[in-house]
Amino acid sequence: MKKYKEDIQKLKNLNCKEDDVFFQAMEEVLLSIAPLLKSDEVYKKNAIMERLTIPDRVIKFKVTWFDDNQNVQVNTGYRVQFNNALGPYKGGLRFHPSVNEGILKFLGFEQILKNSLTGLPIGGAKGGSDFDPKGKSDFEVMKFCSAFMTELHKYIGPRIDVPAGDIGVGGREIGYLFGEYKKITSSFEGVLTGKPYFFGGSLMRPEATGYGVIYFTETMLKIEKAEPLKGKICTVSGAGNVALHAIEKLYHLGAIPVTCTDSKGTLHDPRGVDLELLKELKLKKRVSLEEYLKTHSEAKYTPVDEYPEGGHAVWHIPCYAAFPCATQNELTALDAKALLKNGCKSVSEGANMPSTTEAVNAFLDAKICFAPAKAANAGGVVVSEFEMSQNASMQRWSFEKVDDKLKDTMQQICKRVALTARDYGVEGNYVDGANIAGFKKVADAMIAEGI
Ligand code: NDP
Repeated sequence: MKKYKEDIQKLKNLNCKEDDVFFQAMEEVLLSIAPLLKSDEVYKKNAIMERLTIPDRVIKFKVTWFDDNQNVQVNTGYRVQFNNALGPYKGGLRFHPSVNEGILKFLGFEQILKNSLTGLPIGGAKGGSDFDPKGKSDFEVMKFCSAFMTELHKYIGPRIDVPAGDIGVGGREIGYLFGEYKKITSSFEGVLTGKPYFFGGSLMRPEATGYGVIYFTETMLKIEKAEPLKGKICTVSGAGNVALHAIEKLYHLGAIPVTCTDSKGTLHDPRGVDLELLKELKLKKRVSLEEYLKTHSEAKYTPVDEYPEGGHAVWHIPCYAAFPCATQNELTALDAKALLKNGCKSVSEGANMPSTTEAVNAFLDAKICFAPAKAANAGGVVVSEFEMSQNASMQRWSFEKVDDKLKDTMQQICKRVALTARDYGVEGNYVDGANIAGFKKVADAMIAEGI
């Protein structure tokens, strides 16, 4: 263990101070793959961890745009191109005030292993800006996206780097970004995924991550001989793209999702949340969840300032299965304790790294089913790759075809993770299974491609 602590410190020294969440992700991977590094000298000899934990390049740029009052606004834009051993760089763009280089390095690093796990030919990247689309007019969002793409277009291309959406970047933003890329380059090509369907997007891309999490969970529960989701109370956090589609698929399977959350509070409707109303409030009107009570007064809304100290109200509601689908580190050790005490049997991460290290360890120690983000939420990037394939071959696949292929791919990922865990003597530990399986494929490609 001492040896790995030293290795982690060495890798940390190669990076910058803003990188707390990145270190958290890196440390987890390093601890998981320790047996592999120990048993096979080839990874050490080729300095794979050092090469894998430093991005190929970090592009940082200024984004200047006019707001509706003709004031000049300035933001910072980033693209972290982490690793392209397996295919073109691929990963989302996040527009949120909290975005900085450290967060994007964490997300980009996770993306390498996630994309590797899919078995598809895609590398890992992430990007975004500290721009906040919330409260901005459509015109302002368009101005910002145009200015962002003025710089980003130099570094991307269908065979180079193919960005997609993430927090704050949905179909509207992707549309404006794509429009500007097309204008600058005069080229209509699959340079972004998550495009609206009528100009090159794939059917089911919006649903893909949320549906994928549930497909993964059903497969995991089956492998682990636990009861399926049908008829079970489920708690979900977030009220964005991932959360709402996870809720939708839970309903398809006959489960009862009773919660969702946004950055201001938690909504609990014990009869099952009203999905159509949530879509109206969060995707169309973009208002607070508190508005839900105007239609369903018997539901309960807990604002953030009434959350338990060091925890999140949503994880203190009893459930069979929990689905954190909002943001990183939203499920703490205190929350994990409450979930376990209330009999929760399964936790699947829809968001990227939503559980703190202590929370993950609590789930693993309790031996409940725990699906880590890099495996469970791979559905988004899987359908993004399907979008790239459709664009390259000028084809349009039906909803059923995409859904069948997504389901099949999520089941394959789950089985690969479970088998890898078994092969390395940690049966049932999907964290180690995902890290080892994802790492091995990229590392072997890096070795084969030389220095
Ligand atoms: P959205 O922007 O659509 O939704 C995010 C949701 O989480 C919103 O309801 C938002 O609340 C809430 N939220 C954001 N930040 C916080 C915070 N600090 N505290 C509490 N709530 C917060 O994002 P997505 O659904 O697309 O993404 C959610 C997560 O899933 C992210 O971790 C993302 O990286 C990950 N992910 C997304 C994929 C995709 O395909 N979209 C693919 C793989 C992973 P509010 O409405 O108040 O803003």
